Amino acid sequence: MNTCDGCTQKRETTGAIIKGKYGQYCRDCRTLANRPQSSGFAQWSRERDREDNSRDLIQPWDRNGVPNRDFIREYPEEAKNMFTEEELKNHG
Ligand SMILES: [Zn+2]
Repeated sequence: MNTCDGCTQKRETTGAIIKGKYGQYCRDCRTLANRPQSSGFAQWSRERDREDNSRDLIQPWDRNGVPNRDFIREYPEEAKNMFTEEELKNHG
């Protein structure tokens, strides 16, 4: 058993280069380092994707044909083109 240079746990380690630094790393740390989506940016952009997808589901009108408040809030510019001022006033 060694002390992992990544997570500092006492674990079975193997020499590896992580973040440009050679050291003794456990399997978890090596797996994590080899997964590109574990990087902060990929994580961030994945979360953005999820947000964008959920935003795409917002419809301009609800099923009763009433302007959708959420749509107006999320897409104020588009809403201006789609709805009359009165609709925006009543539902925005
Ligand atoms: Zn580790």
